[in-house]
Amino acid sequence: MAVKRSWVESANELEGDFPVENLPFGVIERDGERRTGLAVGDQILDLHACARAGLLSGEINLDLRALAVSGKARKVRHSAAEWLSEAGHRSRVQPCLVPQSSVRMLPPFEIGDYTDFYASIHHATNVGKLFRPDNPLLPNYKWVPIGYHGRASSIVVSGTEVKRPSGQTKAPDAAAPVFGPSRMLDYELEVGFFVGEGNALGEPVPLHQAEARIFGLCLLNDWSARDIQSWEYQPLGPFLGKSFATTISPWVVTLDALEPFRVPAAPRPQGDPEPLPYLTDERDRLRGAFDIQLEVSLLTARMRAAGDKPARVSLGNLRDLYWTPAQMLAHHTSNGCNLRPGDLLATGTVSGPTPESVGSLLERTKRGAEPLALPDGEQRKFLEDGDEVILRGWCESEGHARIGFGECRGIVIS
Ligand code: CA
Repeated sequence: MAVKRSWVESANELEGDFPVENLPFGVIERDGERRTGLAVGDQILDLHACARAGLLSGEINLDLRALAVSGKARKVRHSAAEWLSEAGHRSRVQPCLVPQSSVRMLPPFEIGDYTDFYASIHHATNVGKLFRPDNPLLPNYKWVPIGYHGRASSIVVSGTEVKRPSGQTKAPDAAAPVFGPSRMLDYELEVGFFVGEGNALGEPVPLHQAEARIFGLCLLNDWSARDIQSWEYQPLGPFLGKSFATTISPWVVTLDALEPFRVPAAPRPQGDPEPLPYLTDERDRLRGAFDIQLEVSLLTARMRAAGDKPARVSLGNLRDLYWTPAQMLAHHTSNGCNLRPGDLLATGTVSGPTPESVGSLLERTKRGAEPLALPDGEQRKFLEDGDEVILRGWCESEGHARIGFGECRGIVIS
């Protein structure tokens, strides 16, 4: 398939995230307004400006939530791809572009509810080994897409500073806990997916319809205070060790853009049970997973001062998950729970089978026992103040333009 070219030159860069085949949706603040835009190269196509220029019908509600629910997002993206590829449209469309560097990105949706899954069996096994060496993977794991209800109010967009949380922690040999700043602050590399059209309370979404409810994907860092988490998590699961901040990338990459990068769900090892019928669908098994490379980089205060580049500390792939996004969404609604437009579901930490592909420091440093060596000679057990965590994600496939997610960044402050 021929790779499309755009008259927006930066959209044609081979290593770029935003060619005209991608056109992810985001929300910008411009002239005091909340506006919906599409990323193209290093620019943003301001859809509200397009409407004012007569390129889009004034009838279309351009609020991103409305676009995601009405199904008009597909048509808008399709039209925009035409305008941006054909030179004849340039004079009318160019005034609707704004450099990405000149505007502030807002969260793409007002997120009502956020649920975090635990869909990487490698992550679940690694973490289980640290907390329960004799019994790493609990017996429900291969039957139930495990998840918990996260906190929506503290979801922030890339670039927002993350304040080190304080909380109760208890050293294993201490008689009582103390209250103070977390000393075991960590990141979790995840992918989020936004709900477009929701479902009514009491009406589960069957697996074969689940993908139609997913508007698109973003990168997500589920910041985690391991010392707070390990003291509080039993018996009801994560709470204050997680709820202080979750960072998302601002661009929502649509399933349409991800179509060339679909892959079969990761094969289940011999002897693993088949999913129950409500989690089984042939189409989902054959093409329900996504081949997305996922990277974590770290930029410490010292590296920043020295002008160093961020150091890659992990490279994994979303295709390794034990459950597909559609299985997670179908399972979420299987008890009748209603999802609403703009709700955010996340995969859980994406870890692969090797040490270089794990998505958290907890796993990489074996809970601090094996510090990670950085290229400038520094070491990390967990995150220090001034450390910036940068997530990136991209897709590559022969014959298709590379597409990416942009960045999901956050710097730790005290
Ligand atoms: Ca998580």
